[in-house]
Amino acid sequence: KEEVDIIEGALELTRKPVKDIMTKIEDVYMLDYLSLLDFETVTEIMKRGYTRIPVYEGDKSNIIALLNIKDLALVDPDDRTPLKTVIKFFQHPLVFVFDDQKLDQMLQDFRKGHSHMAIVRCVNNEGEGDPFYETLGVVTLEDVIEEIIQGEIIDE
Ligand code: ADP
Repeated sequence: KEEVDIIEGALELTRKPVKDIMTKIEDVYMLDYLSLLDFETVTEIMKRGYTRIPVYEGDKSNIIALLNIKDLALVDPDDRTPLKTVIKFFQHPLVFVFDDQKLDQMLQDFRKGHSHMAIVRCVNNEGEGDPFYETLGVVTLEDVIEEIIQGEIIDE
């Protein structure tokens, strides 16, 4: 039964788009580029428990960087280091994908190893004005693997 699920999951990868499995923007825990890494913020980051945290500037749809929890290893909350300083130091690559990108391609991209999280967006050409990129959510390698095995991976 489990084997059949996995094979079915793998076959689905060529058909399913990332927007079907992403974590929606309103559920994504993000940080403001202008935050200070003080005790309160670092405590909150640790409490949330995410490995990767998108960083936005101005508006939450404007994701400009990624913080990895490991980046905080040498940050002393007493110094109230600007998040900006840490972001500029590490400069993790930020990967964007279109909402209709299929999961098999997404898996290939993740395997290339630039980043295990991608920002999902679409081109919004509704309305009067010029078309613009709309940020819809994030997708990680774990989301794709869960599709293949057709089940949740319970975090440690
Ligand atoms: P983590 O290592 O942080 O647990 P995973 O890559 O294992 O993250 O993904 C687990 C789930 O959490 C996935 O559904 C993913 O989309 C979601 N996720 C990852 N980072 C965030 C975040 N910063 N905010 C909200 N959801 C997230």
